[in-house]
Amino acid sequence: MPTAGNSRGTGLHRFAIRVFTVVLAVLVYWLLEFIVKDIRAIPGPDFAAIEQRYLDPQQVARLADYDQELARLARTIENQLQKQRVIGDSSRNLQETISQLRELQRLSLEKSLALSEADQAALSNSLNLFLENQRKYQELSQLQAETLDRQQQRVQERDSLAGELDRQRESARKEFQSQLDRHRFWLACLQLGILLPLLALAAILVVRLRGSIYFPLILACGTATLVEVALVMHEYFPKRYFKYVLVGGLLVAIGALLVHFIRTIAFPKAASLRRQYREAYERFLCPVCDYPIRSGPRRFLFWTRRTVHKVQMPAESGTQEELYVCPDCGTTLFEECPSCHKVRYSRLPHCQHCGSEKPLA
Ligand SMILES: [Zn+2]
Ligand SMILES: [Zn+2]
Repeated sequence: MPTAGNSRGTGLHRFAIRVFTVVLAVLVYWLLEFIVKDIRAIPGPDFAAIEQRYLDPQQVARLADYDQELARLARTIENQLQKQRVIGDSSRNLQETISQLRELQRLSLEKSLALSEADQAALSNSLNLFLENQRKYQELSQLQAETLDRQQQRVQERDSLAGELDRQRESARKEFQSQLDRHRFWLACLQLGILLPLLALAAILVVRLRGSIYFPLILACGTATLVEVALVMHEYFPKRYFKYVLVGGLLVAIGALLVHFIRTIAFPKAASLRRQYREAYERFLCPVCDYPIRSGPRRFLFWTRRTVHKVQMPAESGTQEELYVCPDCGTTLFEECPSCHKVRYSRLPHCQHCGSEKPLA
């Protein structure tokens, strides 16, 4: 009698099962990906905190002071430059004024006239102002040179201090890197700690439920878990280790497949055994040793698996209705049915006359 397992369903049903299996696999993959992402989001070591432990706070403060002072010096220099520019402009103006007045004075002298009182005053005034300006300019230049000296000195001091702090920071960086490595190692352990048991469970279920109608479901979950595990391993393990893990995993998988197929041939399962028996009976060959079943109208013929359909049948008609044992290997091939006492196939599950079932050996 047919069981649910033998029903193959319509094409649409089979297609739907395939599509939903893929959808299920994608959904399971997403779920695992979310879990892995959440674990990955666990905060790692804080570089600023580590740096604070490694840097001398006094030196850090001094560096900040230097930076402030350098900024102030830069502003001062800019200021002095502006003042110099203003004074320079003013001096140029005065120079023009003075040369104009001098020209006037020269013309007056040529005409033997004295320069007017006001012009005389303007000239001496301008000269005084010019000299005053020059003095200020000199002073500013002196100041500027001193400020530049100080700036240069501070820059040197700051650079050496910054170099010292950089050396300290290098130690902090090393410490941070080692802490980060440890953190990543624990993240990997946590993620694989969740994924690997799931993968093992999926593998066990895949093997156990191989014949089950729910096999596609388990296979989808298992495949999704396997992909996620591979991705996590690829992310956390250095490439040179990962390739060993990958090849090792492939070796195990291919080895398991080989063992499976070898065992299937050596210890056939009921379904494949039944198929093997059925095909042999269809070709009138002993299902165990392939020797022709020569009874009834085929009694005097000989054929093989290949030539069975080319053999000319004698005119005598009739069906296979006699007990028969393979003369080669001694396997009983046709026997009496215990229910209806007619002749039935020994190696097929049902009697062709009454349908009673017997378990296959
Ligand atoms: Zn035989
Ligand atoms: Zn029967």
